[in-house]
Amino acid sequence: MNGSIGVLPIGKVPETACSAVAAHVRSVLGLEAAVLAPLAEPDYAFDRNRMQYNAATILRTLEAMPVPGCTKIVAVLNVDLFVPVFTHVFGEAREGGPCALVSLYRLGQDLHPERPPGPQILDRLLKVALHEAAHLFDLVHCFDDQCLMHFSMDLEALDRLPLSFCPTCKALLK
Ligand SMILES: [Zn+2]
Ligand SMILES: [Zn+2]
Repeated sequence: MNGSIGVLPIGKVPETACSAVAAHVRSVLGLEAAVLAPLAEPDYAFDRNRMQYNAATILRTLEAMPVPGCTKIVAVLNVDLFVPVFTHVFGEAREGGPCALVSLYRLGQDLHPERPPGPQILDRLLKVALHEAAHLFDLVHCFDDQCLMHFSMDLEALDRLPLSFCPTCKALLK
């Protein structure tokens, strides 16, 4: 694979969370990855009726401001994200798109903006970040429940997933 990933903190996100995502992208996808300067909280995407943040609005905004030197962006947030058909999402990305989102908000209870996330939350964050990043490289959902591209709606399902891809998905990522 070619290219480089920019890990973009949006709002109050622990530094360790972003550097862990960058390190994991580097080791699993074999791509350059660096943590970018943070953006402000995405107030523009707040939906007053749902009291949540619209993931599609954030993606559209990021897509309108390309970051020089990065092929793809993985944005890390700590707000409650939704897409209209779901009560919430852990992350969001368009297949082949330039930007992916992952939020710590639904990944566990022990998260404090000033403290590094615990190992379980970090593990979940890396899984969602890598799953969404793989969508950016055209990977779709996989039927193999021992593959990171298997769709997971809740934390139990997410925890059952491995941190890497099945041989088929791995081959598609080349
Ligand atoms: Zn997915
Ligand atoms: Zn797979």
